[in-house]
Parts: sequence; structure tokens; C-alpha cells
Amino acid sequence: MKTNELTQLRNKIDEINLEILKLLNERAEVAIEIGKQKKKQGLSRFDPVRERQALDLIMQHHQGPFETSTIQHIFKEIFKASLELQEDDHRKVLLVSRKAQSNNTIVDINGETFGDGKQRFIMGPCAVESYDQVKSVAIAMKKQGLTMMRGGAFKPRTSPYDFQGLGVEGLRILREVGNEFGLSIISEIVTPNDVEAALDYVDVIQVGARNMQNFELLKTVGRVNKPILLKRGLSATIEEFIHAAEYIMSQGNDQIILCERGIRTYEKATRNTLDISAVPILKNETHLPVIVDVTHSTGRRDLLLPTAKAAMAIGADAIMAEVHPDPAVALSDSAQQMNIPQFNEFMAELKELGEKLAGKTEIGIF
Ligand code: PEP
Ligand code: MN
Repeated sequence: MKTNELTQLRNKIDEINLEILKLLNERAEVAIEIGKQKKKQGLSRFDPVRERQALDLIMQHHQGPFETSTIQHIFKEIFKASLELQEDDHRKVLLVSRKAQSNNTIVDINGETFGDGKQRFIMGPCAVESYDQVKSVAIAMKKQGLTMMRGGAFKPRTSPYDFQGLGVEGLRILREVGNEFGLSIISEIVTPNDVEAALDYVDVIQVGARNMQNFELLKTVGRVNKPILLKRGLSATIEEFIHAAEYIMSQGNDQIILCERGIRTYEKATRNTLDISAVPILKNETHLPVIVDVTHSTGRRDLLLPTAKAAMAIGADAIMAEVHPDPAVALSDSAQQMNIPQFNEFMAELKELGEKLAGKTEIGIF
């Protein structure tokens, strides 16, 4: 007999659930209508005064057994869901997401493509120090058949007393060497005011980790006709990283490359912790090319090669690393830059791996 009673009660609950469902959807239809009316009248969708009135009315009639706070919470969720229903579709699906665009965005930098499955290399010194320094690296890169050169002219340093970079003079040196050797130039810009001037010198504007949530900078670079290399913030979640890219794309610039460069964790063995799984996550969730900076993520010269191999194996579109003719005297990041012979060895190993990954040779480890 007991079971019968229980079954009856459960049936009753099922009936009520269906009634609630019907009412919720009826309510949703009305909310959508209200949204249309508000749009016509140019009113804001969110109206806290009206929401307060609605909540007060409900509370006047509420007699339990639910706690007042429980009822308030449930209705608040209903209000929120209705508001979301009134929002335009484009606000629900991010422009950078795979849902918005299923095929990969291919960023073309003077004929070198990112995002089409080929793996690229972006090399160069941490900071531009002199014409001769940049030129030595350019010669080494040229010998390796590379065309993408990085170099910092505006350096966002942790201490204001550290070398801040050569500024526009640094950009000028990069451009000069770039033109001489046929290299494309990537350099970081740290303020919206310098974006316009940088357009004459660089082929890609880098937005650094410390500026990933500098929304004015993101909006400014979103309005220029130049590819953007966006680095993940020091403590940014993947979601925050994706939203930073959305800031750029929402202004019209869809030429964006994402760069995983390590995040801050409790681990002290490396400068940052390379979040290698961010690569396939970002490639699944967005349609943008994703690259890995092994220099800033590890901060250790001995880890550059193994992490670069991991990045290639996991499907990164490019590897970024720093090269300096004499790292011991470098004005920044001296412990982690490769010298030219180390760079040559690094490239030889990675090219070999690249061939194996492309299926040209048997890979022992897989
Ligand atoms: C850089 O690439 O020069 C740099 C400063 O890196 P990050 O912004 O990732 O620290
Ligand atoms: Mn550096």
C-alpha cells in the first residue's frame, strides 16, 4: 500500500512539473514580446525597478513552506533566463568561437600562413638593443629559412628601473633589418597611443600578457588592419583569454593569433607553468591559430626544446622562442634566451620532429 501512495505522490509531482514547464514557457513567450516592445521604444532590457516590483508582488503572496530566500533565488534565476532570451543572438555566440565559424581562420603574414596546419617558428631577441644585435639574429634566422622575427621595442617590465626598451627607435631598427633580410616583424605595443605609429613598422602587433585585459588597447588594435598576436594573461583563465580575443574581433579585426605563454601557479621550478592543454582547448573552442611561447612559459633554456616538441606534437600552429647573439649580456631575459649555436641545434631538432609528425619518417615514441 505504501508503494502505491508513493507512486501517486510521484505522479502528482510529475504533473506539477509539467504544469510549471508549461507556465515557464508561456512566461518566456511574454518576456520575448516585452523584449521586442522595449527595443522598439529604445528602452534598456534590464529594468531593476520593474524587477523589484515583480519580486515584491511575489513575496506578498508567498506563504511557504519554502524559505523566502529560496523563492527569491528561484525567481531571480527565472528573471535572468528571461533577460538572456531577450538578448540578440550574437551576444550568446562569441565571434571567435567555433560555433560562429567552423573553419579555421588563417592569418596570412606576407605569405606565411598561420592556422592551416603548417607549423611555423617565430624567433628573435627578447628586446631590441641595437641594430647589430638584431642583425646577427636575422642572419641566423635567414640561414634556417625562417621569416618571422619578434623583438621587443616597448618592454613591459616588472620593475620601473629595468630596461624599458628603445621605443620607436627599436621599431625602426626592426623594420630596417626586416627589410634587409625579408623578414616579417612582430613587436609588442603597450598603449593605444602607440598603435597608429607602430603600423608603419610592424607586420604583426603583439599584445603582451600584462595587457591581455587592457580593454582600451584591445579595442584599439581591433580597429586596425594588421594581424594581432594576443598573449594569455599571467593569471588569465582560458575563458578570460577567449573574451580578450573577442574584444579585438568585435571591433572588426579578425586576424588574431592566440599565444599560450604559461600561467602563474605555485610551481617555482619554472618561471610560469606551460598550460599545454590550453592549445587543443583553444583550437576546439575558437577558430583562431594558437601558438606556444616556450621562452616565457618556462624561463629556462634547458626546457625550450622539450616544451617546443610537446607544443608541436599537440598541434600548435607555431613556436615562439627568444634568441640573442650573446644572452649573458642581454638587457632582459638573459637566463632563457638561446645563443646562435643553441638556436641552430634547436631548429635542427624541431625540423626533424616536424618531418616525423608530417608522417615522413616513423616515430618511435608513438
Ligand atoms: C614578450 O614576448 O616579449 C613578452 C614580454 O612576453 P609576455 O607578454 O608573454 O610576458
Ligand atoms: Mn622576454
